[in-house]
Amino acid sequence: MKHSDKFDEIIIEEKIVKVNGDIASRFYTRGKELGKGGFARVYELTNNETKITTAAKVIQKSSLTKGRTRQKLMSEIKIHRSVHHKGVVNFEYFFEDSENIYILLELCNNGNLNEKLKRRRKLTELETQCYLMQLFSVIRYLHTLKVVHRDIKLSNLFLNDSMELKLGDFGLATKIEFDGERKRTMCGTPNYIAPEILDSRLGHSFEVDIWSFGIVAYTMLVGKPPFQSEDARATYKRIRANSYEFPDTIQISTEARDLISSILQTDPSARLTLDQIIDHPFLNKNTIPRTLPLSTLCVPPSFT
Ligand code: ADP
Repeated sequence: MKHSDKFDEIIIEEKIVKVNGDIASRFYTRGKELGKGGFARVYELTNNETKITTAAKVIQKSSLTKGRTRQKLMSEIKIHRSVHHKGVVNFEYFFEDSENIYILLELCNNGNLNEKLKRRRKLTELETQCYLMQLFSVIRYLHTLKVVHRDIKLSNLFLNDSMELKLGDFGLATKIEFDGERKRTMCGTPNYIAPEILDSRLGHSFEVDIWSFGIVAYTMLVGKPPFQSEDARATYKRIRANSYEFPDTIQISTEARDLISSILQTDPSARLTLDQIIDHPFLNKNTIPRTLPLSTLCVPPSFT
C-alpha cells in the first residue's frame, strides 16, 4: 500500500476529482514562504485564473510515513473544512499531487499574536479585551458544533488584512461524539496545557479551551505565560500545583485578575463557563473596539 492511498480514499469518497500531474504548478503560482510548521511549509499561492492568493500548507507525502501522522492530518482536514466562522482561518480547498498534499487557507497577512507580543512585549487591557471578545465568539461557535480545538495559543491566533482575529491550526482538534465524553489523548502545547490533560485518568473535554483562553489572557497582559519554566517537565509541575503569580511590576486591573484566576482553576468543573465569561466585568466594563488599528502591530494604541 503506498502511503497516499488514504488520501486517495478521502478525496474519492468526497467526490473531489483528482487531477493527474503537477496540479500545483499548472493552476497556481507560488509566492513567498510564510512560515514553517512541524510537517508543513506554508507559502503564498495565487490561483492563475481567479488571481486570489491563499496561504498553502504544503505537506510532503514522504513525511507521512507514520500512520498516526497521516491520521492526524486527515482529522485536521476533516474538522477544519467543516467549520465556517469569521473568527476561523477559512479552509478554502485541498488537493494532492504525486509529491505533496496542499491545504489552501485564508491568507492572514498580519502574522500571529505571538509575533505581535514579541514586538510589543505586552499588550494593553483594551487590546486584550478586543482579542478575547473575538476569541470568545470562535470558541462558542466551535463548542456548539462539539469541536474542541485543544491548541488555542497566541501563535495559532492570526490577523488578516483587516486586523481581524482568526483561529487556525486544527491539528489537535477533536469532536465530542456523545454527552459527557472525556478524551484521553495527551496533547497540546506545554505552556497552555490544562491540568486535566496531564492526568489521562481524568479525561478532558470542552473546558480545556476555556483554560487556554485564560492562559491567552494572562500572556497578553503579562508578556509571558503563567506557568513558563526552564523546561516542559517543570512547566507541568507548576500547572499541576496551580502555581502562578501576577508580577508586582505590571499594573493589571482587579477585573482582569479575577477573570484569569476564575478560569485558571485546576478542577475543570470549577472553571468559568462560556456564559459566565461573556458576563464577566472585565469584558463589560467599557466599550471594546471590534478590531484594532494596524499601528498596534508595533506600538500601543493611542486610546486606552
Ligand atoms: P505550526 O502549527 O507548526 O506553527 P503551521 O503549518 O500551522 O505550523 O504554520 C507554520 C507558519 O506558517 C505559521 O507560524 C505562520 O507563520 C504561517 N502560516 C500558517 N498559516 C497561515 C495563514 N493562514 N496565513 C499566513 N501565514 C500562515
